[in-house]
Amino acid sequence: MQTKYLVFGSPLIEEEEIQEVVETLRSGWIGTGPKVAKFEEMVSDYIGSKHAVALNSCTAGLHLSMLVLGVGPGDGVITTPMTFAATANSIIHCGGRPIFVDVNPETMNIEPSEIERYITNNCDYEKGVLRDRKLGCNIKAILPVHLAGRPCDMDRIVAIAKKYGLYLVEDAAHAIESIYKGRKIGTVGDIASFSFYVTKNVVTGEGGMVTTDNEEWAEKIKVYALHGMSKGAWKRFSDAGYKHYEVVYPGYKYNMMDIQAALGIHQLRRVEGNLKIREALWAEYDKLLCDLPLKTPAPPEPDTKHARHLYTVMVDIEKKHLSRDDVMERLHEKKIGTGIHYIALHLHPYYQQTYGYKRGDFPAAEYTSDRTLSLPLSPKLSMEDVRRVAGSLKEIFIDR
Ligand SMILES: *Cc1c(COP(=O)(O)O)cnc(C)c1O
Repeated sequence: MQTKYLVFGSPLIEEEEIQEVVETLRSGWIGTGPKVAKFEEMVSDYIGSKHAVALNSCTAGLHLSMLVLGVGPGDGVITTPMTFAATANSIIHCGGRPIFVDVNPETMNIEPSEIERYITNNCDYEKGVLRDRKLGCNIKAILPVHLAGRPCDMDRIVAIAKKYGLYLVEDAAHAIESIYKGRKIGTVGDIASFSFYVTKNVVTGEGGMVTTDNEEWAEKIKVYALHGMSKGAWKRFSDAGYKHYEVVYPGYKYNMMDIQAALGIHQLRRVEGNLKIREALWAEYDKLLCDLPLKTPAPPEPDTKHARHLYTVMVDIEKKHLSRDDVMERLHEKKIGTGIHYIALHLHPYYQQTYGYKRGDFPAAEYTSDRTLSLPLSPKLSMEDVRRVAGSLKEIFIDR
C-alpha cells in the first residue's frame, strides 16, 4: 500500500461545522452577522475577557491593537525575533519600529532579563516616557509571543511593563488554550490577538480575534475593522432595517464573515478535546524520540498550561553532521511534512536592510533558528502516524 503524505498542520474539520457552513450559505446571510456575534461571545466566555472582536486575521488584530494603543511613527515596540513576520509587521504597518531582544534558549520565548537589559543600556525613563536614545524613538509597548503555546514569563514581563509605563500586547496566535498561573492567556496583558488560520488550534480558514477588558479599544477596533463606519454599521443590511452610517475614521477591511464564524463555533466547542488528543500525541513523541540526537521540547513551566500548538525538536547539528534542512528533506522523502518556527526575523533581508540587524545580534534566537524543526501535530493524527514520524527519524539518524 502506498503511504499517504502526512501534510503538516492539516486541520481537523468535522461534520458539525460542515453542516453549519452549508446552513450559513443557504441562509442568505453569509457576511458579518449573527454567527460572528455568537462566536465573539463564545471566545470572550472561554478566555474570560470582557470583550472579543472577531477579525479576518490575527495580523489584523495586532495591527489594530497597535493603532488603538496609539503606536505611530516614531514609536518603538519591544518584541521577539523568534516569531512569524506578522508580529513585527503589525508594528511597522502603523509606522512604528520593532525592537528585537533575545529569547530564552530553553523556552524560546522572549527573555525578560533581555528586555530589562535593553532598556537599561539604551533608554531614559522620564515623566512616564521611555525614550530610546540610540534609536531616537519612544518605546510604547512590549509584544510577547507565546511560542508554540508555551506561556511567556508573564510575571516578569508585566513587572517591566508597569515599571516603564508600557502597554502589553500578547501575540496569542498559538495560545488559545494556554493558562499562566490560573489566568487565561489573552487576559494577562492589556490586549491580545488570537489566530484561526488553517494550521492553528481553532480554525476558521482565515480569521482572528482580539480580546481585551478595555471597552473603548474594543469599540474602536470594531469601527476600524469595517471602513471606519460608526457603530451599528455591521447591522445595516439586517432585518432591523437600513441605517445610515457615518465614516469616523479611514478604516480597514478586516471583518470576519459568518461563513468563517460557522467553522469557529464548532471548532471552539471542541478546543479542549482536541488539546487532549495533541497532549497524548506529544507524550508519545517525547517517549519515542528520547534516544535520538534531537532535543525534545522542555516540559511546561510549573503552574502553566501549554497549548501544544507545535511540537518542535532541536536537531543536534554538531553531533550527526546533518543539518536541520537535511533532516527536513529526508522526512519529506519519507512523505512527512514538517515546519520551521521560525527563521529568526533579524536574519530576514527586510529587517536587516531596514534596521541594520545582523547575524550575531541574538545568539539564542539564532541557535534555535538554525536547529528547530516542527513535527506533524494535529488532532487529525493517529498514534500510528506519530510512530511513523519517530521511526523515520530513527532511520534518518541511524542509516548514516
Ligand atoms: C499565524 C501567526 C500570526 C498571524 O496569524 P494570521 O491569523 O495568519 O494573521 C501571528 N503571529 C504568530 C506567532 C503566528 O503564528
